[in-house]
Amino acid sequence: MKITAIRTHILHHDLDQPFQSSFSVFRARRHCLVEIETDTGLTGWGECLGPADINAAVVASMAPLAIGANPLDIEIIWLTLYNQFRDQGQRGVMHTALSGIDIALWDIAGKHHDAPIHQLMGGAWRKSIPAYATGGFRPEGGDHATACAADMAQYVREGFGAVKIKIGYGIESDMRAIAAVREAIGPDAELMIDANHGYDVVDAVTVGQRAAEFNVLWFEEPVVPESLGAYQQVCARQPLPVAAGETWHGRWAVAEALKQRTVHILQPDVCGIGGLSEARKILTLADIDQVRVVPHVWGTAVALAAGLHFHAILPPMPPSHEQFSPRLEFDRTHNPFRQAIVTQPIEHQNGFVAVPNGPGLGIEINRSVLESFTVS
Ligand SMILES: [Mg+2]
Repeated sequence: MKITAIRTHILHHDLDQPFQSSFSVFRARRHCLVEIETDTGLTGWGECLGPADINAAVVASMAPLAIGANPLDIEIIWLTLYNQFRDQGQRGVMHTALSGIDIALWDIAGKHHDAPIHQLMGGAWRKSIPAYATGGFRPEGGDHATACAADMAQYVREGFGAVKIKIGYGIESDMRAIAAVREAIGPDAELMIDANHGYDVVDAVTVGQRAAEFNVLWFEEPVVPESLGAYQQVCARQPLPVAAGETWHGRWAVAEALKQRTVHILQPDVCGIGGLSEARKILTLADIDQVRVVPHVWGTAVALAAGLHFHAILPPMPPSHEQFSPRLEFDRTHNPFRQAIVTQPIEHQNGFVAVPNGPGLGIEINRSVLESFTVS
């Protein structure tokens, strides 16, 4: 079997109601999918986290190095591409682009062997993953606390046992939102807060100390990811477990972050860290340091499917009857093509999402819907 083509598809939808993270404004949903074709007719799909257009450009730059290769030589292709792009890309878009290619190769391998990816990776520890609802961004021109509380209460009514809201809009505003959400979801639902690195150490410590009374499960990306020393300080000076890792790409970045004891919870994203191949290596690093892994997921059903296979292979940690169960990040913000591009949407049932069991990623792309959202 040989790779004959590597294509990208940029999907786009303008949002009627833009929303903000601590530092950015989402006016549209825009994601980059990777499709790999082979001479046997098998095709594989992957997805890249982050800016779609740059990812597409890097995938296009990598493609000639992989065309003609056996798509089952996943490790060889990964390292060949990495070695060629290393000098300008030890972090960032080189890894996110490579992630999309790697996931598509695993999809082909699964279809070739007629087995789901989690089976090829050694087997699923779990077939159904408890999901948490991600949302709670600040609507542009709207009140964060009010919008957040209403949305999160709705997610809990839909069956989610856990929700995550965005913060990083100023301490007093954030505390209002956290208090309103806790009030709205009741005492039992789990609540996480994500600052998207919108704070410095001084303010992050204050937020963590004040948020603790609202029973927060983790404090995500309190400070900028490149400052590992800042993470050490936030860990040491406030009581909430600290989570991060969605922008630590590749084994070397994660190894350094773990070595410096920066987080209690590591959040690799298979569409960013270098694909399923690299994500699996990260599990070994996390195991050595006994750091909890709760993957980050942000994208279409392709990213969700890849994330679910990764969740399935997370080893039990600690190896006990009452071990912590990883949660699947389940984005609830508006995205009309997220599920529409697959023939069978990946939905939750009372807060749980089943791991796909078909060959490869276990999804089938709906071409006509895909094309209706594709921009050149
Ligand atoms: Mg995050």
